Amino acid sequence: MINNVVAKARKAQGEWAKVPTSERAAVFRRFSKLVLERQAEIMDVLQDETHKNRLSAFEEVLDTTQLTHYYGRHATKLLKPKRRRGAFPILTKTIEVNRPIGVIGVITPWNYPFTLPSTDVAPAVIAGNAVVLVPDELTPKSADLMLSLMLEAGVPEGVVSIVHGGGRVHGKDLIDAADFIMFTGSTATGRIVAAQCAERLIGFSGELGGKNPMLVLSDADVPKAAPGAVRACFANSGQLCVSIERLYVVEAHYDEFLKEFVAATESMKLGDAKDWAIDMGPLISDKQFVRVRDQVTDAIAKGAKLQSGGRVRPDIAPTFFEPTILTNVSDSMELGRGETFGPVVAVYKVKDDAEAIARANDTDYGLNSSIWGGAAATLAATQIESGTVTINEGFSASFASHDAPMGGMKTSGVGRRHGRQGLLKYTQPQTIAVQRLIGIAPIGKQTNEAFAKLVSRLLGIWNRIS
Ligand code: NAD
Repeated sequence: MINNVVAKARKAQGEWAKVPTSERAAVFRRFSKLVLERQAEIMDVLQDETHKNRLSAFEEVLDTTQLTHYYGRHATKLLKPKRRRGAFPILTKTIEVNRPIGVIGVITPWNYPFTLPSTDVAPAVIAGNAVVLVPDELTPKSADLMLSLMLEAGVPEGVVSIVHGGGRVHGKDLIDAADFIMFTGSTATGRIVAAQCAERLIGFSGELGGKNPMLVLSDADVPKAAPGAVRACFANSGQLCVSIERLYVVEAHYDEFLKEFVAATESMKLGDAKDWAIDMGPLISDKQFVRVRDQVTDAIAKGAKLQSGGRVRPDIAPTFFEPTILTNVSDSMELGRGETFGPVVAVYKVKDDAEAIARANDTDYGLNSSIWGGAAATLAATQIESGTVTINEGFSASFASHDAPMGGMKTSGVGRRHGRQGLLKYTQPQTIAVQRLIGIAPIGKQTNEAFAKLVSRLLGIWNRIS
C-alpha cells in the first residue's frame, strides 16, 4: 500500500521540483498565515485528540506559524546555488547546488501532533521534495487538518500524502520505499528506524528522547526560577521532549527554591476543558498514564519523598496525574535515569555550580538543558552536553529560535531541525566545477615534471595571497 503512495509522491515530486524555490516558499508563507487565522479550529482539534490544555495547543499554532514563516522568508536564499573556491584560481569556476532528495518519509509522535508534522514537512517540501507522512495512530485528525491547510495554501495534490495507522504498522514499508527518513520519537524506536535506514543506505534524521536537566546556580534569581520550573516541567503535562525531569539546585538556594516551586505548582489550575485558565490537562492515553503512575509508585516504594502531587485524579479525567515533585530520587529507581515523559520532576540538592554541571551531564541523553543564573549560567552553557541550552527559561527560548538548529547530542538524536541545517538536510549537495581555458594537465609538450614544478610555484604564490 505504501509503495503505491510513494510511487505517486515520486511522480508529483518531479513536477514540484521544477517550480522555482521562491514560489514553493511563498506557498508556506500562505500556510503560515492560514494557521494563525484558523487557530481556534486547530486548537479545538488538538484538544479533542490529546486533551492538552489550551495554552499548550496554542504553542503548536505559534510554533507552526513562526517556523513556516521563517522558511517561507529565508529558504530561497538558503537554497540558492553558492559560489565555492575552485581547484585553480581563474581557471576553475565551482558552484555548490542543493538538489532535492526525492520522497521523504516523515514519522511523527502524538505529543505535538500539529506542529511536529507541519514543521518537518514544510522544509522538506520547500526544498523540492515530496513527503509521505505517517503520524502517530493516536492523532490522525491533527495531521489531516495540517494537510488540508497545506492544500489550501497551494501545495499541489500528491506532493504531501498521509498514511494512517502509525509507524508500528507502516514504518518498515515506508523506510523500504522512501529516499530519506525524518523520525521523531523515542530513542529505542529511533535505533530500530536508523538500523533499517542503514540497510538501505538512505539518510536518517532522528529527534529522540531526553532526560533534561535544569540547574539553579549560585547567581540565580530564585523568585524567577521557581515559576520558570513550573513551565519547564509541566507544560503539555510534561509530555514534551525538551521539558525538565531533573532539577539540580545549589544548596545556598535549595530550601527557598523548593518552597517556592512547590507553592507555584500547587497554585496551578488543573482540568480537562477548552478553558484558557487551565494550566495542565490529562495525559493523552491509558498507556502514558500507566507509565507515569508506575514510575512514581516505583520511586516512592524505593524511598523517594513526595513534595507535591503524586495522585491520580479520576475526578478530573481517567488519565489525569497530578504535577509531581519528588526528592530523594536515586538511580535505582526507574525514573532516576529513564525518561518519564509526564508531569514528574526529581529535585536534587548539590554543593555548588560544578557539581550541578557534572550531575546534569551524567546521562546518556543530551536534548535540552535549562540553566538559571547570571555569568555562571553563560559559563556553564559551554560545559553542558545538550543540543539546546536555555538560559533563564525552560525550553521555549531555544526551541522558538527557528533560525538556530534544534536537536540532540548523545542518544537524543542524529541531525537537526530548524535553521539552515533543518532545510539543507532534505537536499543532496552537488558540486559543479567548470574548467576554463586549459585543462589540469601538462600543456602541449610540457613534461610531467615541468608541469608539477610550474603548478607548485603558482599555487605557492596563490596560497600566500589568498
Ligand atoms: P515511540 O518511539 O513509541 O513512537 C514514535 C513514533 O514512532 C510513532 O508515530 C509510532 O507510531 C512510530 N513507531 C513506533 N514503532 C515504530 C517502528 N518500529 N518503525 C517506525 N515507526 C515506529 O515514541 P512515543 O512514546 O510514542 O513518543 C514519545 C517519545 O518521543 C519520547 O521519547 C519523546 O522524548 C520523543 N520525542 C522527541 C522529540 C524531539 O524533538 N527530540 C519530540 C517529540 C517526542
